[in-house]
Formats: sequence, C-alpha cells, structure tokens
Amino acid sequence: MSRVLKYPVVNTDITFNELPDKMAYAIELGACKQHCVGCHSPELQKEDVSLTSLLDILEGAQDAIDAGANSIVVMGGTNNKHITEESLIALLQDLSDIAPTGLYSGSEDEERDKMIALEGHCVWLKTGPYVDTLGGLESPRTNQRFYRITSTYRIDAQDNLVDVRPCFLDETHKFWKRVENVT
Ligand code: SF4
Repeated sequence: MSRVLKYPVVNTDITFNELPDKMAYAIELGACKQHCVGCHSPELQKEDVSLTSLLDILEGAQDAIDAGANSIVVMGGTNNKHITEESLIALLQDLSDIAPTGLYSGSEDEERDKMIALEGHCVWLKTGPYVDTLGGLESPRTNQRFYRITSTYRIDAQDNLVDVRPCFLDETHKFWKRVENVT
C-alpha cells in the first residue's frame, strides 16, 4: 500500500551542514505552501513538481548510505502540496529503517512537528518558519529550533523500568558555534 505513495522531490544531495557531525543524504521536498517572507529557496515553492515514488526515494537513500553517508535528512514536508501528515510519517518511518533520520520543517506548529518526528522515528527535528530578519539556524537570533530527540527513563526502587518519555534536546547552539569557529 505505502509503496504507491509519491512525493514532490526537487533535489537530493550529500550535506555536512544540516545535521551536526553527520554526513547526511538530504531529500529536498518542493511544492512548499509555507510562503515564508524572504524564503531562502523560492524554487521550492513552485507547484509544478514531478512526483517520485516512495520506493525510488528509499532506493536512493539506501544507495547513499551504502556509499558512505551516515544519516538522512528530509527537508520540508509538513506544509507541502501532495504530502499528507500520514504520507510524511510513512516516509520518515521507512527512511529511519535505513539510517538515523532528521526532519527539517518550516512550519509554525512546533507541537505538530514534534508529533510527526516522533511518529516517524526521527532522531533530529528542525522546526520553525524562516524569518528573513532573524536568519536561519546559523543565526544566534533565529526563531528556529534544532532538537536531538532522545528518551528519558524512570526506574523504581527495584530497578524496574516504569516510564519512558521522549526528550527534545535543544542543540540549536551547535550551529552558532560552527559560525563562530569560522575565521
Ligand atoms: S518553509 Fe522553506 S521553502 Fe518553504 S517558504 Fe519557508 S523558507 Fe521557503
């Protein structure tokens, strides 16, 4: 069933900039409906985008991992034509079975982004719209947040596990250090 899903993939690439300390296979999704003022990639807003099957996306990701990439990042998807919440979660789950996966969302709804990232078994989440005057993740003034998703565990006096909860660690500062280190 899920193999008939299709997505508006505009570009794929290898990136060292989106997930700290990772060589990531990036999948850039188009037909973005977010319409951020000062959008850094206006080409991603074009509605006329050819669609790529889930199977082809997974094969591309597996090839990249086999060639040496150690993570995957999906750029967009939370507010794009042709993509539903369910189809995005299906994509993230299948990619997460191949390698640790992150989601870059330009949405204003952080709680929804967190839910999608958790349902999609993601390890990283970038959330928040792009605001030209505040800048992207590399700007210390940015409104956007970058989280690493882990779990917290609670055990009782007998060392029995009684609770496991998701934990979103704010690692946005890692992008600022990277800029500070540039001479
Ligand atoms: S979410 Fe990204 S691609 Fe979409 S309008 Fe905003 S900056 Fe542009």
